[in-house]
Amino acid sequence: MSLFSAVEMAPRDPILGLNEQFNADPNPKKVNLGVGVYFDDNGKLPLLQCVQAAEKAMMEKPAARGYLPIDGIAAYDNAVKALVFGADSDVVKSGRVATVQAIGGTGGLKIGADFLKKLNPQARVLISDPSWENHRALFANAGFEVGTYTYYDAATRSVNFDGMLADLRAAEPGTIVVLHACCHNPTGYDLTPEQWDQIIPVVQERGLVAFLDMAYQGFGHGIKEDGAVIGKFVAAGLNIFVSTSFSKSFSLYGERVGALSVVAADKDEAARVLSQLKIVVRTNYSNPPTHGGAVVAAVLNDPALRAQWEQELSEMRVRIKAMRQTLVDGLKAAGVQQDMSFITQQIGMFSYSGLTRDQMVRLRDEFGVYGTDTGRMCVAALNSKNIDYVCASIAKVI
Ligand code: PMP
Repeated sequence: MSLFSAVEMAPRDPILGLNEQFNADPNPKKVNLGVGVYFDDNGKLPLLQCVQAAEKAMMEKPAARGYLPIDGIAAYDNAVKALVFGADSDVVKSGRVATVQAIGGTGGLKIGADFLKKLNPQARVLISDPSWENHRALFANAGFEVGTYTYYDAATRSVNFDGMLADLRAAEPGTIVVLHACCHNPTGYDLTPEQWDQIIPVVQERGLVAFLDMAYQGFGHGIKEDGAVIGKFVAAGLNIFVSTSFSKSFSLYGERVGALSVVAADKDEAARVLSQLKIVVRTNYSNPPTHGGAVVAAVLNDPALRAQWEQELSEMRVRIKAMRQTLVDGLKAAGVQQDMSFITQQIGMFSYSGLTRDQMVRLRDEFGVYGTDTGRMCVAALNSKNIDYVCASIAKVI
């Protein structure tokens, strides 16, 4: 009898499991639209020029690898604050933001979740229906009961905004509401600025805790534009949580670079919050790794590298947008009767294609085109070489 005889096999991660299936597929035409990763037009994962330049400079002056402070590299945390809230924003200048470097956006969410669990153990968490699957698992593992608020309406292919508002209005005070700051994953449908203006008073009046997940800043409309929603919450005087990920925007997936920022009422409160966030970090993994944070800080804090990053990020954003249009045109040319132009109204990496589970399974089994069973496809993995095949395949299953 082993200690582990009663251990059950956990289900495979739905998206990473899809990857394994893709890798094992012998179809030479196979296309992976499952995982949320940006590939360039050659189907390659980019290594950004700004990252290479920063790494080259770092290699010319090799640095020893001591432990970082628990909250990470100060220059990194400051760069995150500037990016998320604006360098000249009152909230940053007055010291009201507590930021810690985190292990990816996931790490930022987890530090926030653990801190919130200590702060208000009875709180419920609401995530959007549907949401990035790990939201549910992550908050549930932090000990919360996780429910959903209405978000996507399949019938109208848009956000059921009235439903969302009603659910938030019905939430208990103290409920933690996880909101996608931009580029909603998985649907691709974001709230408009006017809709955010209606959400914020409800969050305020109901005493909800807004946790904004910002995994795609710069992938939607632009760095500033995508960050504007954060400014709206801050302007309303709300104490918010913001998780940041540089996985996509720097194409640094494996370096695990992210952050958590918490907006407090004043400088003193921010210092107390920071001290608690540091306990969470210290008792989980002690302190963050050096390399990714150092690269991102070097790029964000150097005007020339920063300009280069903005340029490269905008190229990724523009290419995704162009692929959306090409997909719509290609589907039409491939004989799809139904109007697919909704794909160009979606934003960010993903498209909820509206395809059923059966259609997605057929795409996979018969054509080697991999998306999730929910119909989500990663538009950022389409390119000029695979688009015709993808369109022809979709046309056959629709
Ligand atoms: N939130 C959302 C909505 C995401 O899509 C992702 C990445 N897929 C993350 C958080 C996590 O980002 P990271 O890989 O940096 O942990």
